[in-house]
Amino acid sequence: MATIDLAQTSRRADFPAIPEGWHYLDTAATAQKPQVVIDAIDRAYGHDYATVHRGVYRRSADMTIAYEAARQRVAAFLNARSADEVVFVRGATEAINLVAQTWGVATLRPGDRILLSQLEHHSNIVPWQMLADRIGGVAIDVCPLTGDGRIDLDAAEAMLTEAHKLVALAHVSNVLGSVLDARRATRLAHAVGAKILIDGCQAVPRIGADVQDIGCDFYVFSGHKLYGPTGIGALWAKGELLDAMPPWQGGGSMIDRVTFAKTSWAPAPQRFEAGTPNIVGALGLHAAIDYVEEIGLPVIHAHEVALVRAARAALSGINSVRLFGPEDAAGIVSFAIEGVHPHDIGTILDEAGVAIRAGHHCAQPLMDHLDIPATARASFGIYNDAADVAALAKGIERVTRIFG
Ligand code: PMP
Repeated sequence: MATIDLAQTSRRADFPAIPEGWHYLDTAATAQKPQVVIDAIDRAYGHDYATVHRGVYRRSADMTIAYEAARQRVAAFLNARSADEVVFVRGATEAINLVAQTWGVATLRPGDRILLSQLEHHSNIVPWQMLADRIGGVAIDVCPLTGDGRIDLDAAEAMLTEAHKLVALAHVSNVLGSVLDARRATRLAHAVGAKILIDGCQAVPRIGADVQDIGCDFYVFSGHKLYGPTGIGALWAKGELLDAMPPWQGGGSMIDRVTFAKTSWAPAPQRFEAGTPNIVGALGLHAAIDYVEEIGLPVIHAHEVALVRAARAALSGINSVRLFGPEDAAGIVSFAIEGVHPHDIGTILDEAGVAIRAGHHCAQPLMDHLDIPATARASFGIYNDAADVAALAKGIERVTRIFG
């Protein structure tokens, strides 16, 4: 791969909440917001604000158009066939719970199996456990990882049976940065008649997703990791699946007709959006997708690959640092220092203005597999540059000096 000039591709100047001298390396938790997203939110509340879908006045009609334009924008971003396949949700967590509680409850029966992987985020484990408990007699299988921290699809192929009704896997690991071959995972799931849900939280801001090319059944992501606002995300599902799924939350907006005798539902996606939605969040997400696509995901990915390579090179030169995950990780580097708790690493780095995440990263089964309680994690975004990597390496050298 050609070397890129990080100073050229870094878009730090677009991000007002990253002051000079502060090194934000926690983008996998949540991304900072570019000014264009902040402006879109400001305009929506400060100028254009009104409710959607119900108002007969001009302002509300305009807001409805803008809200539905955001849905179109998400659909185009994922290369969905139709905006009707996009449900706005609070984030990936809510999207996965929605699928579990609607499609899952309607579909799974005792004796069925679900395949997850060892590296899943808790939000792609716990909703399936809750579903399995609710149905009773549903088993969860765990696909192992390769030595360098990828989901082992050869093992998945050997494990899958016709009893499997669902496979749910992370497109990019939030701890290891490893990238799933989502097309192959989909082929494997479909070969036994299972549906597949891909957790795209870390993938959409780093490599993007084309749901038609992948061929998956469900795809979920959170807006706040894509440089957009918190409280908004999307569930994409194949139209025929969504059309057949029962609603989960009842209330306004999701109905066709309500009487005390009987209520009928609105078509998808409205059927899954009970109550007044996160109108401004959707508009902010629209601005975030515009921002990301204006830069281009290939540029963002190349930028992050270069940052990961630089970080891994710098850290591997320091004695006692143990690196996790593959060399070609997408934007994320987890590590540990022998004899030092990651929380201490995080605290000492913070004193030097370097913000990393330390902990189990909502992936305790992965920590068990790695046989450690926690890792330190540096994760990158389009605003990072070589100075951030240098500050990280300098901070880690200080940690190793302090702890001898
Ligand atoms: N899956 C992955 C891979 C994640 O990184 C995250 C957030 N850390 C989630 C799911 C959950 O996202 P949210 O908290 O925004 O719902």
